[in-house]
Amino acid sequence: MTITFLGTGTSQGVPVIACGCEVCTSPDARDKRLRTSILIEAEDKTIVIDSGPDFRYQMLRAKVKHLDAIVFTHEHKDHIAGMDDIRAFNYKQNSPVDVYADARVQRALVREFPYIFDGTGYPGIPQVIVHPIDLHPFDIGSVKFTPVEVLHYKLPVLGFRINDFTYITDAKTVSETEKEKISGTKILVINALQKQTHISHFTLDEAIAFANDIGAEKTYLTHISHRLGKHLDISKELPDNIELAYDGLKLNI
Ligand SMILES: [Zn+2]
Ligand SMILES: [Zn+2]
Repeated sequence: MTITFLGTGTSQGVPVIACGCEVCTSPDARDKRLRTSILIEAEDKTIVIDSGPDFRYQMLRAKVKHLDAIVFTHEHKDHIAGMDDIRAFNYKQNSPVDVYADARVQRALVREFPYIFDGTGYPGIPQVIVHPIDLHPFDIGSVKFTPVEVLHYKLPVLGFRINDFTYITDAKTVSETEKEKISGTKILVINALQKQTHISHFTLDEAIAFANDIGAEKTYLTHISHRLGKHLDISKELPDNIELAYDGLKLNI
């Protein structure tokens, strides 16, 4: 199975519109971060986790030719805003795309994209089949997802463990019970926004402490703000088994 980081930036992306900081003006491609999402390519299924505002360009950039499913972590705009663009896959595949979301996220999708769900079947609208999920494990073809609930300030957000790979994008607090679900994971992806304290996101130090606590062989940091610093500079400060993710990074799991 291959994982591709389609986006590793926080909600505004990097560069930030109208920002002239050294990160936003860096020529390093690793300092250009679209909104957070990953592509999972298994033998039988191609899946994305989240479809944020950059979804269209992420599909083009990663040359994704087929998409079976979207799995949503939570309903913030930077994670759902691009869902309308699954239309291209509907036309090409002549089939709906499977959408996996918990009850609260489903309500948000109906609110944000009422025309998809109002039953009028207006020609050309995105076609989806919604599969309700909760904290129980579920399968998409051969890919087994174990949801892990984390708190994004007060909002419960889903992370997912797939075999020995765990992907968590928007955590500030993780309970001991949920940590147990990811113990023994070999590759961990966790959010690290910036160095300064933030109400709903791990700081760099909090992400490193969490990574050490879980003890994965390798941890990748994602959902990164321009305030964190340049990829090259921050990379020098990190322990050997922790790296900043960057757009386009691929992992074989
Ligand atoms: Zn900036
Ligand atoms: Zn987010």
